[in-house]
Amino acid sequence: MFDPTGPWWEPGFADIARALGWRWIIIAGILIVFLGLLTLIILSPWLGINALAGEIKLLIFVGAFGALVVTNVIKKLVKERKDDFCIHCGYSMVNVPEHGRCPECGRGYHQLVVQEYRKDPHFFRVRYQALRRLPPRATAFAAGAFDNPDDGTC
Ligand SMILES: [Zn+2]
Repeated sequence: MFDPTGPWWEPGFADIARALGWRWIIIAGILIVFLGLLTLIILSPWLGINALAGEIKLLIFVGAFGALVVTNVIKKLVKERKDDFCIHCGYSMVNVPEHGRCPECGRGYHQLVVQEYRKDPHFFRVRYQALRRLPPRATAFAAGAFDNPDDGTC
């Protein structure tokens, strides 16, 4: 069985940077804003802290938007990967059985799990981490030998 705790494979920085394409304009703008603010804080702490405090909501929004752009690119890269791969280390699983152990990291592997991971890696991780927190599956037990059970069936 595969390891529900991860780690989970994601494309590397070079792949993300290449796939960003025109979105680099957005990321570069966000980086310039944050670097400018950091420079202002270093050069003039009073002015920089006031700017940070006055525009904190805008900065959080801009930072979240940048994270959203990068996350969508990662999701797109995982979805577009054609070969089957280990969801933990990214090792390409070409010419291997439908399920088994990854030759690279030794964790469990199944093609159906890879297909699920490919659909939405973030959702996959959250769902499998939530499954770990579920109570153990209920098992059947033998009914007791009560003459007058108190469950309303008599
Ligand atoms: Zn692996």
